[in-house]
Amino acid sequence: MSTYIFGHTNPDSDSIVGAISLAYLKNQLGEECIATRQGDISPETEFILNKFNADTPELKTSYAGEEVYIVDFSDLAQAPKDIKEATILGIVDHHKLGDITTNTPLECWIRPIGCSNTVIYEMYKAYDVEIPKDIAGMMMCAILSDTVIFKSPTCTKVDTKAVKELSIIAEIEDYKVLGMEMFIVKSAVGNATPRELTTRDYKEFSMGESKVGIGQLEVVDLSVFDEKKDALFEDMQKLKDEGGLHSVLLLLTDIMKEGSQLLVISDDNTKIEDAFKCILQNRQVWLDGVLSRKKQIVPFLQPLF
Ligand code: MG
Ligand code: MG
Ligand code: MG
Repeated sequence: MSTYIFGHTNPDSDSIVGAISLAYLKNQLGEECIATRQGDISPETEFILNKFNADTPELKTSYAGEEVYIVDFSDLAQAPKDIKEATILGIVDHHKLGDITTNTPLECWIRPIGCSNTVIYEMYKAYDVEIPKDIAGMMMCAILSDTVIFKSPTCTKVDTKAVKELSIIAEIEDYKVLGMEMFIVKSAVGNATPRELTTRDYKEFSMGESKVGIGQLEVVDLSVFDEKKDALFEDMQKLKDEGGLHSVLLLLTDIMKEGSQLLVISDDNTKIEDAFKCILQNRQVWLDGVLSRKKQIVPFLQPLF
């Protein structure tokens, strides 16, 4: 019997690479584990997997009766629909603790740092397992992605140290150059449909009795959205209607200017304005310095519900 390891729905690079890097570690420790994913990979993740010669984990959305480790989330809203019928052996994460519970004792590695792959890096050290060159390269990229090349307020010294050490194993001379290359790939939104863009990095959160969807697109220049905003708003409205959501937010993050244009479709705009002490104009506002959904958006919104 195998155990499956996977990250959240709408997987980002941390979720995909985390499944791969944790599965390798567990296999080295004698636990037969398979990395899987809950959804399509992003262009950024594709770039990372190609660069470091890795296969895309297999798509698997149902886990009833299986044993699993979950990576990069602990919220039911980001889990497979039948997660309650699976046995969760462990959680490796760097978000707020979600609403997933277990019936049996579990292994838990949750730290308030920049990336799940940094937590996994610490696990490799704790178990004294050597990280293969290509896996080190992927883990390094996942950390650079989640921390926005160290610019995000979620980034800690543990993350920067991990990137430096992983870059040596991966034999990457200038990790910041590779990080920028990755974000340029991420910024190419040209041919994507509005739905692909609104859900590329999209999470739903239970807030009080309501559900709120929050998407984020990180690019090197916001002008790529100039012609797309109307279509994005239209699709956000559809997402809201389809999911019976209270609000759908989309952060268009400019990683060079270090801030985000927040687009809002909501039943109650004043909640959003109160949370971020701002006034919406044409359903949007620039939030200077805001790069992180988990640290600068969710904690301010949640208490208002
Ligand atoms: Mg993630
Ligand atoms: Mg992450
Ligand atoms: Mg992110």
